[in-house]
Amino acid sequence: MIEQAGHGTVTIGSVEKYITDTAWEEGWVKPVKPVRERSQSVGIVGAGPGGLAAAEQLRRKGYEVHVYDRYDRVGGLMIYGIPNFKLEKDVVERRSDLLVRGGVQFHLNCDVGNAENFADLRKKHDAVLIATGVYKARDIKLPGVGLQNVFPAMDFLTASNRKGLGDDVPAFDDGTLDAEGKAVVVIGGGDTAMDCVRTAVRQGAKSVRCLYRRDRKNMPGSQREVANAEEEGVEFLWLSAPEAFLGNGKVEAVRAQRVHLGMPDATGRQTPQIIEDSSFTVEADMVIKALGFDPEDLPKLFDTEGLEVSRWGTVRVNFNTSMTSLDGVFAVGDIVRGASLVVWAVRDGRDAAEQIHHYIQAKATAAAEAAE
Ligand SMILES: Cc1cc2nc3c(=O)[nH]c(=O)nc-3n(C[C@H](O)[C@H](O)[C@H](O)COP(=O)(O)OP(=O)(O)OC[C@H]3O[C@@H](n4cnc5c(N)ncnc54)[C@H](O)[C@@H]3O)c2cc1C
Repeated sequence: MIEQAGHGTVTIGSVEKYITDTAWEEGWVKPVKPVRERSQSVGIVGAGPGGLAAAEQLRRKGYEVHVYDRYDRVGGLMIYGIPNFKLEKDVVERRSDLLVRGGVQFHLNCDVGNAENFADLRKKHDAVLIATGVYKARDIKLPGVGLQNVFPAMDFLTASNRKGLGDDVPAFDDGTLDAEGKAVVVIGGGDTAMDCVRTAVRQGAKSVRCLYRRDRKNMPGSQREVANAEEEGVEFLWLSAPEAFLGNGKVEAVRAQRVHLGMPDATGRQTPQIIEDSSFTVEADMVIKALGFDPEDLPKLFDTEGLEVSRWGTVRVNFNTSMTSLDGVFAVGDIVRGASLVVWAVRDGRDAAEQIHHYIQAKATAAAEAAE
């Protein structure tokens, strides 16, 4: 439990983990047991940390809780996005098992907007919570982007996580999504890019390079993750922007250009500017695009024009109530904040559960008064 950075202190995270693991091992963590069951139900779209946190609190209050998810497992990005070496999957699975034992009903492989109608969910339940996260990968429009072995980050990370969970993953088993023995180039400078480079190292890549158009100081990913990746042998090519993917059918190299950082833009970040005649080429058998995520077009997917979204496509909510522009429809997590963190999704989910409870009870009281 002594931290290894040389400060001679005890890391709080390790202490918390020890206490939590002990609680699970000793059977002190028990399923939710509501004091009384209520007649109303809540539908939650998305079984990531936001949806699960809300599900637990609502079940505790005695509501019938139904969670719908398009994946075949519970956990959202905690199960298929965040790599195993950062978050052990049994930690997620033991929590979802506990929710099942507490009476939360999961409907997996259920894609709301396609297999399941959002309007029907609103009719079925007294309130609906949207906790769908952000999944539309930002793309890059460059010559050669359609070559084989140029992948979005989530394809690569999901295949790796599925393998770790013991699934059959043909695209991994036939070598397509396995970095072993390959020269891997990851494009991007966020935490997802760091997860990709570190996963590629663990799969036994021949070399792993990260191409990022700003410098180390200006990258969005955590500095600790960069230091970890460097320690593991990842080479960072700072101030480098991809120009084209080269190859014949399959990618063989990435041509990139040097960049210098110009004047700050409206957000205060220095704008990357290409340096002329600065092209260089790096070998690549596999390229992973980790350029961030945007929300899907939810009003269109859910066929609900009245659902207000921001200009970035995130769902607008009243921050005091977590309610969207639709009566009885709430939203939490990344779909409200944009790509964020697990702790924020959990916080949002708990807050929204309280607000959903107030909403349903206020409606029930009003209905009872009207009936008198
Ligand atoms: C590669 C990667 C690494 C990360 N690492 C960290 C980290 O180390 N620490 C950290 O705190 N955060 C990390 N994050 C961010 C964190 O995972 C997210 O902020 C968090 O999971 C958001 O929770 P959520 O509940 O809002 O959404 P999600 O976890 O994305 O869950 C949303 C769920 O909704 C489901 N869904 C979506 N649309 C539909 C639909 N139409 N019908 C049915 N179901 C649907 C999805 O299948 C998914 O299960 C990482 C993110 C990525 C991509």
